[in-house]
Amino acid sequence: MIVKIEQNAGFCFGVVSAINLVEKELGNNDKLYCLGDIVHNNKEVERLSKLGLEVIDIKQMEKLKDTKVMIRAHGEPPSTYELAKKNNIEIIDATCPIVLKLQQNVRKGYTQMKSINGQVVIYGKKGHAEVVGLVGQTDNNAIVISGLEDLDFIDYTKPIHIFSQTTMSKEDYTQICNQIEQKYKALNQNLSSNLLITNSICNKVSSRSKQLIEFADSVDMVLFVSGRSSSNGIYLYNLCKAHKEKTYLISGKEDLKKEWFKGCQSVGISGATSTPMWLMEEISDICTSIN
Ligand code: SF4
Repeated sequence: MIVKIEQNAGFCFGVVSAINLVEKELGNNDKLYCLGDIVHNNKEVERLSKLGLEVIDIKQMEKLKDTKVMIRAHGEPPSTYELAKKNNIEIIDATCPIVLKLQQNVRKGYTQMKSINGQVVIYGKKGHAEVVGLVGQTDNNAIVISGLEDLDFIDYTKPIHIFSQTTMSKEDYTQICNQIEQKYKALNQNLSSNLLITNSICNKVSSRSKQLIEFADSVDMVLFVSGRSSSNGIYLYNLCKAHKEKTYLISGKEDLKKEWFKGCQSVGISGATSTPMWLMEEISDICTSIN
């Protein structure tokens, strides 16, 4: 069996630096709290919890004092930083620089929209940590839309500035923006300057699509390794599956099924920006031994 791991798969730099920061902190301390899962990958979370990383939620953070809490690459709303200050908690901030920049742009966009009675719209997964962080930049006033079915939440008689969560599908975002543009223009023929669209999808995710399709073409079967709560993982898996029917979503070696390998001479392994390389290598080793 020929087995290859996609060259571009594995952690993005935002996740790499967050994990480096955890490992560095845990080199000096026995324990570190992390607000939410450090990555959307249970296997990596398990590995880091053995080193002393304890995942907490915001309710648990409210009860902590005089300690350190890590903020992951997805970022957090301003209220989390205020809570930390109040409880004398030192923040170990691993917010990805791309997310940080987006938070700043959303805040700027909100100030501008507020001054002209407009709206900030965020295209993303409702309740996703990054989206919560972005909505927090707008005093929780942003309108979150997750698909075409949510477009009626927007008031098309008012100015609009739309942003996207960094890990959404580029194609879906384009489709959503086109629909918003049509609805807006139908009511505001001479005011199109009051409809602002910011392309805020991370290049690390959007550039993967073409590379993943080419990779899928080069093998008989693709094993896509990802946690089911990873937005970019589900997006990339669906993309790959639409292109290559023989694509399977797995979270670890225990999900492998021998019958998938029937008639296959080559297997490709890929994963989300939150899938650790060690996990893909572990799966690769098992596949290599299958005849
Ligand atoms: S996917 Fe992009 S924005 Fe998200 S953590 Fe990775 S590098 Fe940062």
